[in-house]
Amino acid sequence: MITGSTRVAGVIGSPVRHSLSPAMHNAAFADAGLDWVYAAFEVVRGAGGAALAAMRSLGIAGLSVTMPHKDTVAAAVDTLDPAAAALGTANTVVLQPDGRLAGYNTDGAGFIASLREAGIDTSGMQVAVLGAGGAARAVIDALARSGAAGIVVVNRSAERGELAARLAGSIGRLGTAADITTADLVVNATSIGMGTADVPCDPSALRSAQVIADLVYHPLETELLRAARACGATGVDGLGMLVHQAVLQQQLWTGVRPNPAVMRAAAEQELAARHR
Ligand code: NAP
Repeated sequence: MITGSTRVAGVIGSPVRHSLSPAMHNAAFADAGLDWVYAAFEVVRGAGGAALAAMRSLGIAGLSVTMPHKDTVAAAVDTLDPAAAALGTANTVVLQPDGRLAGYNTDGAGFIASLREAGIDTSGMQVAVLGAGGAARAVIDALARSGAAGIVVVNRSAERGELAARLAGSIGRLGTAADITTADLVVNATSIGMGTADVPCDPSALRSAQVIADLVYHPLETELLRAARACGATGVDGLGMLVHQAVLQQQLWTGVRPNPAVMRAAAEQELAARHR
């Protein structure tokens, strides 16, 4: 039951009504017996700074941040963790007891955690990242921090790809589709396959020894993951990253690590209800 002492968290973004975060976070709060509630706040472009001021004045304990506010929020908070500072984007804000706002980016660490959950250690791996947008940049930064041996960025726009590859420092470079076959891990961080049966690369480039991770989670088994399965490769779906970035957020707000399985079940249930 919501009472006068219930702590409030939420997500700011636009559009935000489609977000799976309320279902995941509220399920985990309930599972852990925490007196917290999580809501979705539609905050229009340009109002991210005002939302942070409201967070302070209303005492909202934690925020998730989604498009189009990730850059604004990173620039406006009092402190940033290393990933948020490197990317210039924050997906998480914590209201600290002294009133200061701490910004974090848990997207990349969430991706690494989703691979770890699948028994995959990225240290020493050669990685091909398809895409160079916000999701790709978070993944590249996290892979470099987690000891990947080399990261090749394959992107439609070479200029954007080059900028993303720079996040990996000396182990990063811009590549071509020819680099996909030789990678240990291939990550689809483009929006190709989202709600369609399109694939971001030629399926014949995939090999059985590879790990293929798709950040797209609708459908859960994308055409790329289907192709990975068909050739005997290990596939990792995009819902794991979504769940684990949320696990890290909730832990930052409450100090309690939520159960990833509870969050995943809530997200799957919500997705199934929408596409029934
Ligand atoms: P974004 O910033 O808009 O970047 C999109 C990327 O896809 C760019 O690299 C773009 O290439 C490429 N792209 C789009 N359409 C293409 C096409 N037809 N052909 C070739 N390349 C194309 O998007 P984002 O925020 O990074 O998100 C990317 C995907 O990751 C989305 O599907 C999103 O749902 C998913 N995502 C998943 C999670 C998760 O937790 N699982 C988290 C974040 C995002 P150009 O640079 O050339 O335009």
